[in-house]
Amino acid sequence: ALTTGIVGLPNVGKSTLFNAITQAGAESANYPFCTIDPNVGIVEVPDHRLQVLTTLVKPKKTIPTAFEFTDIAGIVEGASKGEGLGNKFLSHIRQVDAISHVVRCFADDNITHVSGSVDPIRDIEVINLELILADFETVDKRLARVSKLARTKDKDAVAELAVLEKLRVAFEEEKPARSIDFSDEEAKLVKGMHLLTSKPVLYAANVSEEDIMDPDQNEYVAKVRAFAADENSEVIVVCAKIEEEIAELDGDEKQEFLDDLGIAESGLDQLIRAAYQLLGLQTYFTAGEQEVRAWTFKKGIKAPQAAGIIHTDFERGFIRAEIVSYEDLVDAESMTVAKERGKVRLEGKEYIVQDGDVIHFRFNV
Ligand code: GDP
Repeated sequence: ALTTGIVGLPNVGKSTLFNAITQAGAESANYPFCTIDPNVGIVEVPDHRLQVLTTLVKPKKTIPTAFEFTDIAGIVEGASKGEGLGNKFLSHIRQVDAISHVVRCFADDNITHVSGSVDPIRDIEVINLELILADFETVDKRLARVSKLARTKDKDAVAELAVLEKLRVAFEEEKPARSIDFSDEEAKLVKGMHLLTSKPVLYAANVSEEDIMDPDQNEYVAKVRAFAADENSEVIVVCAKIEEEIAELDGDEKQEFLDDLGIAESGLDQLIRAAYQLLGLQTYFTAGEQEVRAWTFKKGIKAPQAAGIIHTDFERGFIRAEIVSYEDLVDAESMTVAKERGKVRLEGKEYIVQDGDVIHFRFNV
């Protein structure tokens, strides 16, 4: 399963946020394919469409889809040189598909900052620099090999050399690989290098309880937004402490609490949805009398693969998929009416599944 790693310097609120994640935690019985590991938190993906479908179909139960966050502890300055848990930290980052970088944007004299003062950009740069240095090493090693080959006019080597040079220039300016605009051809080469700084990043700006209602008043948040925009990354504002409290509440209580704060959606829910999108994940639904359920798939997959997410037998014996889009089903208010209107399509093996498809798979066993 694709996972997002949570990183951040000490005392920025990482554990508090991760606690909120595990407490809000999905019922793992529903998700047998998820990892069981104390450093992995399974979260349900908030999706209002699931409630709408439940109202329409009135199933016995409703099951949201879920995905994983991994807590990656132990970053310190010097990680790329193996300081602290450095090497372990880097190898953990290598294994995740995207990064949520928690940054401290709250002032609190009682909580020590590792560098003595609150400065989110400096904090971001400390971690980014460690990752850039690790990538620099990777690129340097390859450069040595590839530049020799390129001298023999080997075509692939010449192409790769150009990419490696671009990366080196960026790293020298302390810029991550994700800040470079590569052509499709180049991007393919970069992908094969498994660089740490080409992983997509979300910055989670952790603000105080006071600031969460109006985060734009917070000058640190403004700085993080500007920094993130510059490297094509996104920012989500959270208050880890409040998220920890919200995570203990159930549906109705949670809504009341958010209403009191004047917030439409909790920071954690925003973070979950943003991470989901960052990973290129989308949702399809199955809707029957027994259960209405959301399923996660990687954007671009075909119908048989999507069936395989429910059960490998569904993929092996795939015949066809009966599909109606969420909007058409909601318009029609029932499957029967949707069928009468010709909105329910029969799709075959080559169909590319779309976000919001409501699917009934037909298969041989
Ligand atoms: P970590 O080292 O990054 O995992 O940081 P922790 O989650 O342990 O948080 C460090 C300290 O900051 C703890 O005392 C938290 O209670 C406090 N803290 C975390 N988030 C917030 C917040 O949003 N507001 C305030 N005031 N304190 C926070």
